Amino acid sequence: MRILYAASEVTPFAKTGGLADVAGALPAALAGLGHDVKVVMPRYNGVKDKPVRYTPRGNIKVSLAGVVYPFDVDAGHLPETSAEILFLSNSRLFDRPGLYQEKGKDYPDNLERFAAFSRAILEVPGLLDWHPEVIHCNDWQTALIPAYIKAHFPGDPMFNGTGTLFTVHNLGYQGLFLASEYPKLSLPLEFFTPETLEFYGKVNLLKAGLVFADILTTVSPTYSHEIQTPQFGCGLEGILHERSNDLFGIINGVDYQRWDPAHDPHLGQSYDSRQLQGKRLCRRQLQKASKLPIKKVPIIGMITRLTEQKGVDLVIEVLYELMMLDLQVVILGEGDPDIHLKLNEAMGRYPRKLSVHINFDESLAHLIEAGSDMFLMPSRYEPCGLNQLYSLRYGTVPIVRKTGGLADTIIDATPSNIAAGKANGFHFEHASSHELLTTMRLALKLFHETDLWLQLIQNGMMADFSWGRSAKEYERLYCLAIDKAAEKSKPE
Ligand code: ADP
Repeated sequence: MRILYAASEVTPFAKTGGLADVAGALPAALAGLGHDVKVVMPRYNGVKDKPVRYTPRGNIKVSLAGVVYPFDVDAGHLPETSAEILFLSNSRLFDRPGLYQEKGKDYPDNLERFAAFSRAILEVPGLLDWHPEVIHCNDWQTALIPAYIKAHFPGDPMFNGTGTLFTVHNLGYQGLFLASEYPKLSLPLEFFTPETLEFYGKVNLLKAGLVFADILTTVSPTYSHEIQTPQFGCGLEGILHERSNDLFGIINGVDYQRWDPAHDPHLGQSYDSRQLQGKRLCRRQLQKASKLPIKKVPIIGMITRLTEQKGVDLVIEVLYELMMLDLQVVILGEGDPDIHLKLNEAMGRYPRKLSVHINFDESLAHLIEAGSDMFLMPSRYEPCGLNQLYSLRYGTVPIVRKTGGLADTIIDATPSNIAAGKANGFHFEHASSHELLTTMRLALKLFHETDLWLQLIQNGMMADFSWGRSAKEYERLYCLAIDKAAEKSKPE
């Protein structure tokens, strides 16, 4: 199958969160299944420093509302795979330090940037003389693609029968813009109605994907049900419910090439499920890097965007009680300046127990996974979550709020799950600091029951969340999207 995979961030070239990890790994897994895969992303400033060989493939131009956007197209390969990566460069739009924002402020021209990028992607097949059978779009940044196919390419043989699949990685980010910006998209006025891109008087780019793509997916089965309810639907539950027959939840996989303590270059010592000694050294390495006393207490790790979604405020609410326990906490993240301030203040108060790193540090993220004993994810909602899956492989027991992908992947250490030998972590039901604290206390208690704790660790480390199974599910849905597109392109 010829698959065009469109994403605004791709590991290892540019990353702000889980989308990049997925976009770097799923296409590779699909290529491994024998498909012809091309990934397209913008060439941001930072991409230029990455060690990859590019070949110029030509240039394209698109015009939206009378503004012409030229792009250079360069091709390389995703590391160690046959999947090709195509970088679209336009220095005015993408030669900037951030991907979507700088110093916490969104770039004011984000609508224009990602509309031009999405529209330009549809010129790539012509340039390469390569007909995609399916186009996989991701999040609001590339959600316009199915709308542009419909509006700008009716009957065009290049996209005749091309199926489109749109994945929502996080419904909380919709690409909302003022209605006055709508004309910049160069889409017909009939696409700006409550049934299409309009959303309470604003332009909602995510809706373009939800309305026009043949198949919709999100990144876990539980989240695919949650987003059809008012509590999690962010105002889009109606349209998602209407399309429930086309909506599927597929759990993200893990790229074990990058995330496995048996061969992780970021660790001073490797280890695996049979040889856990290395983990002890990683704990010490983490305590050193975090300026915490080197002692044998449980270490709780967190790596997260510091936003309300991730429930960091719940941790802050019970920080005093947590700090009274015999443990150390290491937090790595960036985001809301107010949360930065609170965490830094708390670190000043508890320097021997709490270490806070406010930045984006890929290497430290790996060390936290390896050096911690438990990993805390108190998310208010979590479409899939990757860090709990990394934690499992690193023998770090996840403590999670029971929502979305966390509910689908973490098996709570209830007495019956422990007896059945299935448990791999801890759940708490509600986004409440009280429940978080109670669950932490329970986990700390079990931590000292050495045999049982070892079993939790082993269960996690043996679990297999590699991309193989999920890639096969996408393969099946691509076929469904192609069938739907063929149905639509049949003469009436
Ligand atoms: P989300 O995409 O909602 O941020 P996920 O759990 O799906 O959450 O993915 C987050 C990814 O980003 C993980 O690979 C995680 O390790 C990484 N990450 C998040 N914050 C940081 C940070 N401050 N430094 C390094 N990596 C980070």
